[in-house]
Amino acid sequence: MTERPISPSQNDHDSDLEATLRPRKFSEFIGQKRVKEKITMFVEAAKNRGETLDHCLFYGPPGLGKTTLAHIIAHEMESTLTGTAGPVIEKAGDLAALLTNLPEGGILFIDEIHRLNHVVEEILYPAMEDAKLDIIIGEGPGARSIKLDLPKFTLIGATTRAGLLTSPLLDRFGIIERLDYYEAEELRSIVRRSSLILDIPCSEEGADEIARRSRGTPRVANRLLRRVRDFAEVRAGGTIDTSVAKDALNFLNVDHAGFDDMDRLFLRTIIEKFDGGPVGIETLASALSEEKQTLEDVYEPFLIQKGYLQRTSRGRVATPLAYAHLNIPLSNALRSRNELFQEKLL
Ligand code: ADP
Repeated sequence: MTERPISPSQNDHDSDLEATLRPRKFSEFIGQKRVKEKITMFVEAAKNRGETLDHCLFYGPPGLGKTTLAHIIAHEMESTLTGTAGPVIEKAGDLAALLTNLPEGGILFIDEIHRLNHVVEEILYPAMEDAKLDIIIGEGPGARSIKLDLPKFTLIGATTRAGLLTSPLLDRFGIIERLDYYEAEELRSIVRRSSLILDIPCSEEGADEIARRSRGTPRVANRLLRRVRDFAEVRAGGTIDTSVAKDALNFLNVDHAGFDDMDRLFLRTIIEKFDGGPVGIETLASALSEEKQTLEDVYEPFLIQKGYLQRTSRGRVATPLAYAHLNIPLSNALRSRNELFQEKLL
């Protein structure tokens, strides 16, 4: 698949830049007011008591600031963050090494925590609850059980699929917060902040145009800003104003709703090949030659949240908003659905 400028997932080009743009303090973290207020208070309370912060779980679609929050917490707790990801921790020993190397009060950040395997997950339970490590090393008669006291630490987990977490793991998080898509004004502030950091001349209106097409996602906003900058530098004298932003985003095929070719193909396929649905996700995945999980994690959340797609027990259904967006008359679709129904009756 070609790289999508509006993909909320991190790609290889993002990582260095994200480190530059990542807010370091709560005061720089824009939006998510309620979550921010709560975490700020919990951090302050823990610091006043001289304790570690409770284990935290952040969930929500990619690119909304889960990793950023983990870094901010580490900064505000004056602690260090050790980062890893669920699929990277393959064996019990990998986790044991991470845990035993944490400093007192350290923060262990596990991204994609829903992808931890069972064996590893079970080691986390006593570690999270009592700061104890309890693992078996070796196999058969030579196997030994090792019990160790761990330094006090805070686990911060991030996931796009909270529903896949087991309840024993969920139960061990004291703080569980969901991050939501950002409002256009918040994204505008994020684009303005990033343009100042990266020294990109960008007017308020130009930032607004980028913000409105960023699918409620800071990572997308920052990426679009860079792509629009390229366009502005090569074709428009370097400054991003409304018309440059519009031209650049149209050039990138990102429409006014923030959809790209793939989103439109997704909705068009449901409407034209499956009569608007309901159609099962597996069938859709093969019609689009995409993985089911990519459809579920990357494409659907935004389309569902914005009301273009519905997830029903019988499959995915395109809503009237989707028809309107693609300029497909709804009556046609309904008519063909009725015709089909008549044929079946005959
Ligand atoms: P996630 O972990 O949820 O996938 P990240 O925390 O990696 O998302 O955020 C992606 C990028 O978006 C970060 O590099 C950061 O620059 C930017 N970002 C995320 N949230 C905010 C925010 N609230 N304010 C400003 N920038 C943000």
